Amino acid sequence: MSNKTVNYKEIYRITSAITPIQSDCGELCGKVCCQPDSEDDLGVYLFPGEECMFTGKEKWLQWERRHPDEDDFPPSWEYPVYFVRCTGLCPRKQRPLNCRFFPLAPHLLKDDTLFLIHETLELPYLCPLIARRIPLRKDFMEVTALCWQRLLADPRIRDLVEMDSREREREGCRPNIIYPVSRYFRQNQRHNSCTNKWANRYTFEKSDPNDRAD
Ligand code: SF4
Ligand code: SF4
Repeated sequence: MSNKTVNYKEIYRITSAITPIQSDCGELCGKVCCQPDSEDDLGVYLFPGEECMFTGKEKWLQWERRHPDEDDFPPSWEYPVYFVRCTGLCPRKQRPLNCRFFPLAPHLLKDDTLFLIHETLELPYLCPLIARRIPLRKDFMEVTALCWQRLLADPRIRDLVEMDSREREREGCRPNIIYPVSRYFRQNQRHNSCTNKWANRYTFEKSDPNDRAD
């Protein structure tokens, strides 16, 4: 698979300045998601091809090459899957995409409707943005949505998002749907009463309706 399926330079460019809220959300929690945990196994995976954004010599990053089947990636993912840990605060412009998108994650319905939800992974810390359902900036949600639409052009990333989405549904996970991306929802303005059976089981984040997509 060509690494050019996704233009990472462009995605890094459009996400360089976005932040989940107006102020520095790290002040709410002491930057807990950027601190090593007691096991020192906190880090992020890179998307296939995202490694082109790094030299491999960054002093603030430790690299690990992982086997996709050992870390439950879909069969389409090949060795190596890069897992990176930061050893200190990163230069903000260089932070990996998974750091830029947090606390949002994609959820793809079987009919291709894409939502952004609060991350549902079990984490060793509590993110106040999720726990307190703090409204997120509209531009943050819009840019994150645009990036996911571009990332899903890579079948490996799509496989992963589909796999995670089916798993949530099987487990009866009830994520907070923060941002409905698909045209269907934008056109119909039915953010709180969509007809999709799966989505109907979940509640939309209602704390700041003015921040929704039009
Ligand atoms: S844990 Fe949540 S609130 Fe804290 S720095 Fe990370 S994203 Fe921001
Ligand atoms: S790369 Fe940067 S944003 Fe991501 S966890 Fe490390 S310090 Fe935080």
